[in-house]
Amino acid sequence: MKPAPFEYVAPEDRAEALQLLNQHGYEAKILAGGQSLVPAMNFRLAQPAFLIDCNRISDLAFLHPSENGEVRIGAMTRQRTVEQSRIIAERCPLLHETMPHIAHVQIRNRGTIGGSIAHADPASELPAVMIAVDAQFHLQKHDAERWVPASEFFLGMFTTALEPEEMLTEIRLPALPARCGWAFREVARRHGDYALVGVAVVLETAGGGACRQARLVLLSVGDGPVVAEKAANLLI
Ligand code: FAD
Repeated sequence: MKPAPFEYVAPEDRAEALQLLNQHGYEAKILAGGQSLVPAMNFRLAQPAFLIDCNRISDLAFLHPSENGEVRIGAMTRQRTVEQSRIIAERCPLLHETMPHIAHVQIRNRGTIGGSIAHADPASELPAVMIAVDAQFHLQKHDAERWVPASEFFLGMFTTALEPEEMLTEIRLPALPARCGWAFREVARRHGDYALVGVAVVLETAGGGACRQARLVLLSVGDGPVVAEKAANLLI
């Protein structure tokens, strides 16, 4: 299969990419790792007239700890970098444990954290994990920027709060509460396949075995991540 004809640009900096997005809006698509977009273009499920390749924009690929316990991750950071990061293992063990469930290592070498979040596949692991850990997303366009909580970002199947001229630039993971537990489980036919069902959980305990807060987020069972509020309330 071959994609429909398209124009290709590979800007060197973020401002240029945002300007191009502003000019081409609905006609344009950002190319991140290409692991979902390129197959979709080859099947002609996606036919962008304009492809903005962000792989040369170095300030979109970073992973930093903040002094307040947060972790800041650039949208173009490869999934494999997140998986292998000691900072993530220490500060966000739920994400660390989840990463190997995403596809295969070859795909994670190219696929980006931002691409997976922006793609919003209901069977994806990262959207559910982002809600479970209460992540914040930085969305930017040529003349404005905003922060959106993960819980308000995923609007449905392959649909997010991103406007056509906006780019996801950064993911911010808050510090986990001092007394907390977490888990990720999924069922897939084979390792690396998309999940048939999965769940990401973060619990905060109040001591004495009491559960103060709980976030349980399911994947692959609806149009997007499903927050199991009743189950969380039962635990609390
Ligand atoms: P791309 O494919 O480049 O882009 C995806 C979409 O997001 C496009 O519409 C693009 O325009 C948009 N986009 C990308 N970056 C941004 C940005 N910064 N701002 C705004 N929009 C943006 N994923 C899973 O979660 N679990 C799996 O089990 C899994 N299995 C897979 C198995 C196979 C065989 C393959 C090929 C893929 C699989 N994937 C799976 C998908 C993989 O994780 C992709 O890497 C990911 O979904 C998309 O990331 P990407 O960087 O490749 O984005």
